[in-house]
Amino acid sequence: MGRRRIRAYIGLGANVGDAAATLARAVRDLGALPGVRVRGVSRLYLTAPWGVTDQPDFHNAAVALDITTREQPEAAALTLLAGLKALERDAGRRQRARWGPRELDLDLLIFGRHRIVVERPPEARSVEAEIDPAKAARQLEVPHRDLGERLFVLAPLADLAPGLVPPGWHEPAETARDRVASQDPSAAARAIGEWDSASGRWRRR
Ligand code: ATP
Ligand code: CA
Ligand code: CA
Repeated sequence: MGRRRIRAYIGLGANVGDAAATLARAVRDLGALPGVRVRGVSRLYLTAPWGVTDQPDFHNAAVALDITTREQPEAAALTLLAGLKALERDAGRRQRARWGPRELDLDLLIFGRHRIVVERPPEARSVEAEIDPAKAARQLEVPHRDLGERLFVLAPLADLAPGLVPPGWHEPAETARDRVASQDPSAAARAIGEWDSASGRWRRR
């Protein structure tokens, strides 16, 4: 079986501890996953929390990756998701309510041109699902289900790939970003840093 290369986009978020340092470390650690190369890092954004609003502001960013794999796309995406969850645990993330404060959140936003839905196996569907929607979520859905509604994800994604039309969409990332920003002026995402690949962190502006 030959190898294939897939361009993936990851959304990063944190609002506990030194979030900017955590995200910079996550960029480095993503590039150390097997078969993964970092191809681009967005600006760093400061954003008001979404869903559960009574918590510290978030730092958000996005990363473009090239994945080299021998696996089929769905298996390769699940392998990447497992890597993301391992990095979240390494960063000290604990189980809390969905959308609540977290040390590190890594979401798989886009995986090439692939549309993938993997239901959670029944044994992993917890009875807690009724009180914690995160437990009821699909194990994997790409493009990420809420990508088109979240300025804090669209803004960094549009930095990396303004003309990218995610599979199943009818507009590029940049247009989606501008649409969401104009629909909801309160959903501000403020760019506060530029990625500096030499030092491996964002430089404040
Ligand atoms: P949201 O998914 O709305 O951004 P969240 O990031 O707070 O919420 P988590 O608790 O981090 O939610 O994840 C809940 C579950 O979502 C994970 O267990 C994961 O298996 C599943 N999931 C489904 N699709 C994706 C995806 N594209 N990227 C990351 N996780 C996903
Ligand atoms: Ca998320
Ligand atoms: Ca997540």
